[in-house]
Amino acid sequence: MTAQGPLILIIEDEPQMLRFLRASLSTHGYRLVESTTASDGLAQAAARNPDIILLDLGLPDLDGLEVTRRLREWARTPILVLSARGQDEDKINALDAGADDYLTKPFSVGELLARIRVALRHVATSSGGQEPTFSLGDLRIDLAKREIFVGESEVHLTPTEYKLLATLVKHAGKVVTHRQLLREVWGPSYVEHTQYLRVFMGQLRQKLEPEPAKPRYLVNEPGVGYRLKVRGA
Ligand code: CA
Repeated sequence: MTAQGPLILIIEDEPQMLRFLRASLSTHGYRLVESTTASDGLAQAAARNPDIILLDLGLPDLDGLEVTRRLREWARTPILVLSARGQDEDKINALDAGADDYLTKPFSVGELLARIRVALRHVATSSGGQEPTFSLGDLRIDLAKREIFVGESEVHLTPTEYKLLATLVKHAGKVVTHRQLLREVWGPSYVEHTQYLRVFMGQLRQKLEPEPAKPRYLVNEPGVGYRLKVRGA
């Protein structure tokens, strides 16, 4: 699949990180376009129509947050943010501006490939228009039928618990920020009420997790949000 693999646009200015990405991705059948500045990256995104964009947050001309905003004015291409440690605020802002997920440097080739697969799979499912199903371990969720099973037993959720879980299923494998969850489940005027999330996430874990104190499915992304784990990610 050398010539046919998905096209990845990398917008990153650190030579060492670029070398790592190039080496990891080209050997897995991805085609690559590279930009070392935001302005060239934006131009390449328009000219080449990539399948996914890997975006460094700290670029010499514009920050990645602004690049995300500009891309989202016209493109739905998945954006995977590459951030340095200690950029929590920037990560959250980039996700709220429409980035799909992030990786904190340094990350492994395995993590990188898993996140890319998740992002590309989301494009494939969201264009199919079907309500997603989800299964991992003993947990099975069918949004079309509104059915949730743990092993053989059906689990009953309150309407709010269901909405919270369904939102995570729709973004399965990707981080969803606190603001995003509060907006989608409770509404735009509740985006600061993170205590609601803690309470309802606790209830969901009690009902779904084999060991609620050590969540296997509904994992915390400290300071950022929550992620429903998927196989191999
Ligand atoms: Ca940089």
